Amino acid sequence: MTEFDYGARIVRLQEEMAEHNLDVVLLSSGADLPYFTGYEAVPLERLTMLVVPAVGECSLFVPELEAARVEPGPFELIPWAETDDPVRLVARAAGAIRRAAIGDHSWSTFLLRLQAEMPGAAWSVASAITTPLRIRKDPAEIDRLRRAAAAVDRALARVPREIRFEGRTERDVARDFVELTVAEGHDLAWDPIIASGPNGASPHHEPGDRMIQEGDVVVCDFGGRVGGYYSDVTRTFVVGSPTERQSEVHALVEAASQAARSKVAPGIACEEVDRAARQVIVDGGHGSEFIHRTGHGIGLEVHEHPYIVEGNESVLEEGMAFSIEPGIYIAGELGVRIEDIVVCGPSGVDELNRAERGLVDVA
Ligand code: ZN
Ligand code: ZN
Ligand code: ZN
Repeated sequence: MTEFDYGARIVRLQEEMAEHNLDVVLLSSGADLPYFTGYEAVPLERLTMLVVPAVGECSLFVPELEAARVEPGPFELIPWAETDDPVRLVARAAGAIRRAAIGDHSWSTFLLRLQAEMPGAAWSVASAITTPLRIRKDPAEIDRLRRAAAAVDRALARVPREIRFEGRTERDVARDFVELTVAEGHDLAWDPIIASGPNGASPHHEPGDRMIQEGDVVVCDFGGRVGGYYSDVTRTFVVGSPTERQSEVHALVEAASQAARSKVAPGIACEEVDRAARQVIVDGGHGSEFIHRTGHGIGLEVHEHPYIVEGNESVLEEGMAFSIEPGIYIAGELGVRIEDIVVCGPSGVDELNRAERGLVDVA
């Protein structure tokens, strides 16, 4: 697999720090740490923390028992022993600083103790400077997102042939999706959303004991991770032949997806992509039933910037990767969602997911 240039990423981070007058950036659990070092902290009561000074070399403090898992990178590795106080070690490494930024997903137990150890410092969230760096994917990252999307597309192609829906619970079907996701080349699968019949009206429904029946529309939202990067796809299936109503609602969502995908290009505001999808659904008479944003960025996290939502006026740039996932949720009746991952290419959309989007019968 392609390698990432962590050293170059740290250099860019330090340039951003200079621009924002930051003396130190502290990164712990969360996706910023692997982005800059290749190392993902185990989120534990034992502190892992990268100390990035304004100039000079970074220090990565890790619990001694985790040190063997750390690959060499652009930092000095400092294992701390069970009897050490890691917060004090980090504070000492940071030195007498005035402005510190800390990773958004750092535990408050560490932040509060760091604040006590560094009473002169003003604190801010690291995402203010890490998001602009992470939001545009480099070719090696897009390569991984593309592999993840291709793997999930292969899994999707097997669904109608290999997964039985009728007479089984959502929970059982969810297990089959996990198995296919891993079998097609993901390192791991995240918990799928399998929402059948009226359960489909809840976008983040947790698969439960409902027995899937003939005539059900089933929303299947699933994916996994390849080399640290996520896939995330949704298709809506029908058990048996669809009713006219089911076909109509599905066709509307498909048209909304098409409208949003074809809108994607550098210079287009995120909210314009949302509007393109939403207008189709509003015109079709289901505007009030499209109850979430059109999409979210994806990369080292399943949900990250940019968010494709009304009010987000920031414009798309080449290399941004995100989902397009319009849906219609009719309470007590059904839900339909279609989700694909796309990248903003130099002149238009680069579609990572290519799997069939039509309403496929899985009876
Ligand atoms: Zn979601
Ligand atoms: Zn999604
Ligand atoms: Zn999804």
